[in-house]
Amino acid sequence: DLIAAAIELADHVQPIVSPTTWPAAPGPHYDVMIVGAGFAGAVMAERLARDGGKKVLVVDRRPHIAGNAFDVVDAAGILIHQYGPHIFHTNSRDIVDYLSRFTEWRPYEHRVLASVGDMLVPIPINRTTLNLLYGLDLQTDADAAAFLASRAEPVDVVRTSADVVISAVGQELYETFFRGYTRKQWGMDPSELDKAVTARVPTRTNCDDRYFADSFQAMPAEGYTQMFARMLDHPNIELLLGVDYRDARLAYPHDHLVFTGPIDEYFGHRFGKLPYRSLRFEHQTHDREWLQDVAVVNYPSEDVPYTRVTEYKHLTGQQASKTSVTFEYPAADGDPYYPIPRDENQALFKRYEALAIAQQDVTFVGRLATYRYYNMDQVVGQALAAYKRLSAGQGEKAIAR
Ligand code: FAD
Ligand code: UDP
Repeated sequence: DLIAAAIELADHVQPIVSPTTWPAAPGPHYDVMIVGAGFAGAVMAERLARDGGKKVLVVDRRPHIAGNAFDVVDAAGILIHQYGPHIFHTNSRDIVDYLSRFTEWRPYEHRVLASVGDMLVPIPINRTTLNLLYGLDLQTDADAAAFLASRAEPVDVVRTSADVVISAVGQELYETFFRGYTRKQWGMDPSELDKAVTARVPTRTNCDDRYFADSFQAMPAEGYTQMFARMLDHPNIELLLGVDYRDARLAYPHDHLVFTGPIDEYFGHRFGKLPYRSLRFEHQTHDREWLQDVAVVNYPSEDVPYTRVTEYKHLTGQQASKTSVTFEYPAADGDPYYPIPRDENQALFKRYEALAIAQQDVTFVGRLATYRYYNMDQVVGQALAAYKRLSAGQGEKAIAR
């Protein structure tokens, strides 16, 4: 079924116009041009076209839809995530209801093991982690809480990503699970990063070994790309893939622009580059049914150059005799994947944001354009809110209905 879906998708992911066949004269006029076919761009396109009746052109410089959530069937027939593991989780019923118009769901609760020495232990740290790591027999939440309290090193003001962890679990567990991973992932010490980064990973005193605690956790039943194909399948939406906005801007006149790429790039980096962290993904197929017991194994040690290994069949439920996995190697250069949360970057973003607010006919949405370390559901929520503001005509960025 997955392969059939992918073949069908091939029709959706062809550019409708290639750069060599662009019209010499300006092309058709659109109400809205949308830069980026990821969650931010696709939600805006869907709402503007279906609810707002607007004629929309979606432009993405990649040759495919779905942005970083893009999944595709690889040479071995396994559905993989080209840009690393994407697990959907949210506490918002509204966001689930909205996306459920375009997909069914496969219930999936994410579990991650951390490779520490010759052991694999649950992360987030929970009671099982402590018992395994220290050969203990902590029986209750209170036992685990007391153990952690005996190690925690209170910090007056919790400001950095080091403070958050050290104040909860102490120096040793911090070093075992967080310091090396974070230094690899971000190219800097946790003490240089906002507390929000490592605060994404909780500490537990019970034995709950799920990575997320959200009320809704699932994977799109036929994959993300298929869900995006349905969102974008509307007579008012056209797609221009494999084309950079800078090349499409003048060729396709439009009244309004929705920009979901990096905000500093939009403004020609005039205040300097906003730092985004990148990754190199090494995709492999192994001639065995399974490589690891869970979808993701984290490698917190700095002796290992990658941060985590993902085995996709755990996520998708696909059955196959081979298995495909992805190693993530953090990188300074490459596609922008993560805004880097720290004060000085936020200050630089604010300068770009001031320019963005002054742009009458442009709406900035998404993880790169609003420089926020957002999960998929948060980007969907942000885009739905942006559409509501636009269509309600609030503020100066109203577009006529
Ligand atoms: P993107 O998906 O980045 O889309 C932006 C698009 O704009 C891109 O396709 C880009 O090619 C295009 N673009 C940019 N500039 C231009 C230009 N000048 N011209 C044309 N096109 C342009 N979230 C979760 O909820 N769960 C997870 O498990 C999870 N795992 C993740 C793992 C990794 C490795 C990464 C990097 C992210 C993960 N996320 C996860 C976050 C998730 O990917 C984002 O929240 C979401 O994809 C952001 O959508 P977006 O539309 O804002 O940006
Ligand atoms: N982190 C860590 N060790 C881990 C898992 C996470 O140090 O085993 C830190 C690291 O800084 C990471 C951050 O917590 O970047 C957020 O982790 P998450 O799994 O949410 O990262 P993402 O999936 O967004 O890459």
